[in-house]
Amino acid sequence: MRVCTAASPAPVGDPLLGAVESLVRDVVLPEVAAWDRDDVLPDALWDRLVALGLPGALVPEEHGGGGRTVGELVPVWRALSRGWISLTGAINPTGLATTLLLAHGTDAQRRRWLPVLGSGDGHAAFSITEPGAGSDLSNIVTTAEPVDGGLRLDGRKRWVAGGVSSAVVLMMVRTGEGLSCAVVPAEGRDSPTWRVEEIDKIGYRGVESAAYVFEGHEAVGAEILGGPDAAGQGARQMLGALGVGRVNVACRALGIVDRALAVALDEATHREVGGAMLGEHTHAQLRIGELRARLLAAESLTLRAAEAVDAGSDEARDLASAAKIVASDLAVLAVDRAARLAASRSYRADDELARLRRDAPQTQIGEGANDALLLAMGRAAVDEASTDA
Ligand SMILES: Cc1cc2nc3c(=O)[nH]c(=O)nc-3n(C[C@H](O)[C@H](O)[C@H](O)COP(=O)(O)OP(=O)(O)OC[C@H]3O[C@@H](n4cnc5c(N)ncnc54)[C@H](O)[C@@H]3O)c2cc1C
Repeated sequence: MRVCTAASPAPVGDPLLGAVESLVRDVVLPEVAAWDRDDVLPDALWDRLVALGLPGALVPEEHGGGGRTVGELVPVWRALSRGWISLTGAINPTGLATTLLLAHGTDAQRRRWLPVLGSGDGHAAFSITEPGAGSDLSNIVTTAEPVDGGLRLDGRKRWVAGGVSSAVVLMMVRTGEGLSCAVVPAEGRDSPTWRVEEIDKIGYRGVESAAYVFEGHEAVGAEILGGPDAAGQGARQMLGALGVGRVNVACRALGIVDRALAVALDEATHREVGGAMLGEHTHAQLRIGELRARLLAAESLTLRAAEAVDAGSDEARDLASAAKIVASDLAVLAVDRAARLAASRSYRADDELARLRRDAPQTQIGEGANDALLLAMGRAAVDEASTDA
């Protein structure tokens, strides 16, 4: 297996970034092909992520977390993704849950869950998608009814990242008031009334992707995020948190582009073809130059999106969607361009490019399919133009 280590910017003073870069270089890159093949994120590796404070990095320090901003985490998430996007993906639902609890949780909900997430004693799952509902929330059919001490759940969920072992699931459900966000503790999961299956995936391996079936499951301790008065606010709450997730996905994509570029440069500087080093041919320079230019653009957009998310600005939603779309489409393009230079070398099952080729499309789908996000942005622009006309 080829592992090249070029194109990894040096730490810029943040000890967390330096620690993640070391972890990626010394631990992740040498082993990732085996973990990807076996579809496993080893417990020891997860413990290293917890020891670095990565899952709970967004939890305020007063609740035992890292107290980081999304902007501060952009280089960290990107560096982690140079090793394996599954690591950045595995910590993402905890960041989403943290964002939701901080923005909408009751004091009691924050006191109960933020210390668990901040310390890494437990992680969270975030569940919107159902067999019949991805972008189209009007098709959400999983229901939650209040019962003594909890909620009664009926329905099915799909693609719940971290949903096999998380301590809590923040889940979009239909209640009498409309769509709501339920905070569901894990007790009772993997039982006849809350069945769990794992979905096998072509890439993004090692991340638990659960499918749930609820049949009259009485979830003890489950409650509506923000309390009963916040029932019916779930779509606004959960979609609002996705800005954080889309920046996380954009960072996964940037990490893939970094690695594809590293492979392209390795080929360009180590392989002789047509009487010269590959990189001396203008077509190779053009391909590498194109990736470099687009990477700089995607990186700037991602940083701007992260700042807008941190500031809670009106632009945050569009910028986070745009960053995810631009970076993820670039990730797919970058793997293709690097593979053209590497040719047959990119086709070994254990080659890094082979894994990146399977991982890159996940970034086009996760936190909203790119086309669905583009449709939403286009629809809003047309509506605004019609109003102005
Ligand atoms: C590896 C992986 C991990 C995931 N993890 C999670 C998770 O942890 N939690 C979670 O909740 N979900 C998760 N998902 C689900 C993911 O968020 C959804 O797949 C994504 O939102 C897209 O939904 P969909 O697949 O139903 O596609 P759709 O939303 O149905 O989109 C498919 C296509 O339909 C078209 N389309 C979409 N909207 C419209 C419209 N309004 N009008 C016309 N055409 C439209 C577009 O062409 C679009 O590309 C995960 C998915 C994957 C693959």
